[in-house]
Parts: sequence; C-alpha cells; structure tokens
Amino acid sequence: MAVPVSQAWTVATYVLKQKIKGRKRFPLVTMLEPLFRCNLACAGCGKIQYPAHILKQELSPEECFRAVEESGTPMVSIPGGEPLLHPQIDKIVEGLVARKKYVYMCTNALLLKEKLHLFKPSKYLSFSVHLDGQREHHDFSVCREGGYDIALEGIKAAIAAGFRVTTNTTLFDGADPNSVRAFFDELMEVGVEGMMVAPGYTYEKAPDQKHFLGRARSRRLFRSILSNRKKTWKFNASPMYMEFLMGKREFACTPWGMPAYSVFGWQKPCYLLQDGYADTFQELIDTTDWSNYGTESGNPKCANCMVHSGYEASGVYYTFGSLHGLIDTAMAVFFDKYEDRGALDLLNEPVKPVHSFNPLIQIETKVNVVEQQGTTA
Ligand code: SF4
Repeated sequence: MAVPVSQAWTVATYVLKQKIKGRKRFPLVTMLEPLFRCNLACAGCGKIQYPAHILKQELSPEECFRAVEESGTPMVSIPGGEPLLHPQIDKIVEGLVARKKYVYMCTNALLLKEKLHLFKPSKYLSFSVHLDGQREHHDFSVCREGGYDIALEGIKAAIAAGFRVTTNTTLFDGADPNSVRAFFDELMEVGVEGMMVAPGYTYEKAPDQKHFLGRARSRRLFRSILSNRKKTWKFNASPMYMEFLMGKREFACTPWGMPAYSVFGWQKPCYLLQDGYADTFQELIDTTDWSNYGTESGNPKCANCMVHSGYEASGVYYTFGSLHGLIDTAMAVFFDKYEDRGALDLLNEPVKPVHSFNPLIQIETKVNVVEQQGTTA
C-alpha cells in the first residue's frame, strides 16, 4: 500500500461516518490554493493566467485553517501556483498538521531543497512533486530546461531528511507510454512513496490547446501504461480511479469530492471550472446546481474530463459504498496484475513526436516580473 495504514484508516472511517450520518454530498480532500503565483508557466496550466494584482494575493494561515475546518475533510491538498512561494507556507502546513490533516503539498520542487528546513517530517505531511515524465519530457512540459534535475535533487533531499514524497504526473496527447513506464521505474528507484498520474484537463486559458487528451485517447494511453504493472510500482491513487482511467470502469463525476478554496472563496463547481464562488462550504453545496456537471450532464466543459479532482473521489466512494466495492478494491490491490496482451501491443505502436509544436521557453523571471509590477502599481 502506498499510503500509511493510519491514513488509509482515517479516510475509511471518515467516509463510513459520513455515510452513517446520511450525508448525500460530502468532500474528501480540500484543494487549498493559498496563492496563484508560480515560478513556472507550464503550457498546459490554467491556473496562472491571472492579472498581477490577483497573482500578488495570498490566503493567510487563519483563512486556510477556517476553510479546512469548514469542509471537515481528513486530507488537504495544497496546489497553486507554487505554494513554496507563499511567505507563510510553513505556518499553514504546521497548523494543518497540528489539526491532524493529511497534507499533500504540491510543488514543482524548484525551491524544495532550499526551503526544506522550514518543515518537519511527519506522517501527516507529504510533498507531492509535479513531474510530468522523464527529463526531456518534463522539461518540455513545464517549459523549463533543467527543471527535472532540480526537482529530482529536491526529492532526494526531502527523502534523505525523512519526509514523505509522492509524485503527481499529468499526461497529454503524444505521451510515450514506454517512456512513462521507464519514468515509473526511475521514481521507484529514487524512493518516492507513491505516484499519481492523470490526464490534463482542457483548460480554456492554457497556452497550449492542441495536446489535451480526449476520453477515448486517454483510456487507450492509460491502458497501455497501467496494464502489465511491475510489482515495484506503487501508486498514490484510488485503485478504482486507476481502473476508470484504463477504461475498465465507468464513474460519474463527484465535483464536490475535492472542493477548491482560494483567494476568491469556494470555487463552483470544482477545482477546474469557475462558474462563480461561494463564501462558505455549505453555500457551495447548497447553491450549486450539480446536475449541470460531469460528463453525463452534457456540459461541453466536462466532455473530456477524467481528472482526479472530479473522479478520484468517485472511486473512493465506490470502494466504501458497498461490499462489492470493497471486494473489487481488495482484488485490485492484492491480486490483479492487470495482465493484458493487447496493451502490450499498444506499447509497440509508433508515438508521434511530442515536441513538434513548441520550443522550450525559459520563464524563470516570471515571479520577478509579477513582483516588479506589484511595486510599480
Ligand atoms: S467533469 Fe471535470 S470539469 Fe466537469 S465538474 Fe467534474 S471535475 Fe469539474
């Protein structure tokens, strides 16, 4: 298992308690975005295209704690932007750990090594490092030459210091499944606790609109990558969600499963779309017309989405929703090797060159540009 037993137990008892209470819609992970500022500008990112005055804003530690207490989730993911740019990120993490929340601090790890001293190792804290594949692919994906090597140094330093480290990989059209599988081997050799992998969401604001995966292509890609798994691979994701990615299961979206809180408030309806904001978590639940969302709703913005913030909670709720779900999950974890002859054939298919559309762009001065705009505004 790629998470500590205490974490799995906490999540299981939380879900069961919500079910016993009869809560129809309850969240699993709070997506806490304390800032949108970043020291990268990835071509597939839809989070950093805000004007400078928004990029300068930050949530205070107290605002973060209030949001997490409102949602009541046992797990908190801190994406962004780049959370390590927040001047009080250590206080935010410390306060959440003190509240016994399992925290996944998402980072591109460019600053991880130099900021590691701000944090203390804990079973409640994991650095979730954004790595999109092997060196060349990652550097291309994040538009930063050398980004992979810096991130890997940060990962090694964090593991050596006793921190939990996981990875978070987003795949786009043109991903080479053989390279992704070799990348999994590399991560396991380095000693990461578990890997998470998902297709990119078709952000309208992302600079590169050509390489998002449609659902059919996503399933084909994930079938080729995740079938015939090596025993050494450990994944930090719901086994049912991974089967969903491989096309072995169908789930409806659970947009309230991983609600997002940022400087704008609670985002409607999910981490990916911005159809308004609510001041409180309860208001988010009560005033969102949930029937408008999910692939089955016919909403074009949801048509190709298979992202974990919408569907991972669906997998977890399926696991704990019935005896059948528990048995399916146990079979997946302990027995299923996902042997698939057809998936092996897919690995032999030619891959179209992923780097044919865009040169690498160095954007290391982006944060400084925002800061300069801030000082002259
Ligand atoms: S399908 Fe995706 S974009 Fe649509 S509500 Fe669910 S998570 Fe959000």
